[in-house]
Amino acid sequence: MNEREPSSVDLLIASDRVPANANPELLTEEAIWALLENVKDPEVPAVSVVELGIIRRVDWDGEHLTVDVTPTYSGCPATELIEELIAEALRAAGIRHIKINQVLTPAWTTDWITEEGREKLRAFGIAPPQGSASKMSLLGVDEVIACPHCGSEHTERLSEFGSTACKALYRCLDCREPFDYFKCI
Ligand SMILES: [Zn+2]
Repeated sequence: MNEREPSSVDLLIASDRVPANANPELLTEEAIWALLENVKDPEVPAVSVVELGIIRRVDWDGEHLTVDVTPTYSGCPATELIEELIAEALRAAGIRHIKINQVLTPAWTTDWITEEGREKLRAFGIAPPQGSASKMSLLGVDEVIACPHCGSEHTERLSEFGSTACKALYRCLDCREPFDYFKCI
């Protein structure tokens, strides 16, 4: 494990990048959550960072915004990019004082993916994590992973690693389609 120290990044921007008519002080926390709904996971663009469950807290006083983010996997190369995308979306809404805290405990689990997020993963052709993040894989028990294309449970694992380290590559033995499985951790 290559755990990084919790870090916070203060991202301040020049005023010329703020939309002229922005009134960020009128934004509610709900509106900020809605903004975050538009920030997609760069690895799985179908799913937002909110649906992925990595946004743990939003604290907004009308001027200063703090967002607590728990990376899906510490050391996941997408983490910094995700933080930058989050900051970008918030800056675009006119928020100037943005602090993004990386919160590493408790660690993210696939249990935090919302129902909508699971649906979108399936629609995107990725089998969402099944059940809770059990330790079955640690015990060497192979889970039955349903094909996101046809629903068949007649599937086989081709590789422990799919398109990214966070996913495993499977193939459906009925419709023959390969698919990624979002591994439970
Ligand atoms: Zn299938």
